[in-house]
Amino acid sequence: MTSRVDEVFSRDSYAQAIDARVLEVSTADGPPMLVLDSTVLYPGGGGQPSDRGVVLRADDGRSWTIRSARRMGGELVHELEPSPDGELPKPGDRVHVDVEWARRFTLMRTHTALHALCGVVWRDHGALVTGGNMEPGAGRMDFEFERMSGDLVSEIEAKVNEELRAAREVRVNVLPRAEAFATPDLIRTKVNLLPPGIEQIRTIEIVGLDLQADGGTHVANTREVGQIRVTGYESKGRINKRIRIALEDPT
Ligand SMILES: [Zn+2]
Repeated sequence: MTSRVDEVFSRDSYAQAIDARVLEVSTADGPPMLVLDSTVLYPGGGGQPSDRGVVLRADDGRSWTIRSARRMGGELVHELEPSPDGELPKPGDRVHVDVEWARRFTLMRTHTALHALCGVVWRDHGALVTGGNMEPGAGRMDFEFERMSGDLVSEIEAKVNEELRAAREVRVNVLPRAEAFATPDLIRTKVNLLPPGIEQIRTIEIVGLDLQADGGTHVANTREVGQIRVTGYESKGRINKRIRIALEDPT
């Protein structure tokens, strides 16, 4: 199934705004939901929260706050803040969509920092990542990492910062499914768990450090992340350990 929505954020994470046309507006049960033919708002997923933003109608300059975006029934929809007079955009309206950029850029830096953490923990300790989550400026990753200790965690922090300072390029690639399924780094990070029917696999590569199948938004070079610090670590069992990080300078 081909989506009607051009998901610009997927190929250009730096696009902050775009002109679009309204395809559908629904108020069925709950807040107004808007489908556009093109968007710069990431709908959330893979531990990265949804973007927020504003939609502005070209004809009269009327604007609505976008509380979040998400996937519903295979379609990317935007949830609007209802306006007091009940006015809503209509199908066919031309609009301008802006993502709340400062927040999104912080998420791009945070997300990229988490990939650098995964890359270092795998390279130096052979520990696999099992999950992760983030908010703007901070995140956590879970690993199968039986030997984790406070000393190791400080060493990991230093190594991650070294990699970020190395100004490594971050590349987005799209691979056919068969090729992705034959790539060792992608197998390790469980590319096989992607649902059947997805024929093109999008990958994020920190060149020389980390490669993962990933739908999120990232910066183009690790130097944009700045530095991180480890803010905590904990045991979630004998094998499963959690490491928390924060951007040293979130803004
Ligand atoms: Zn990711």
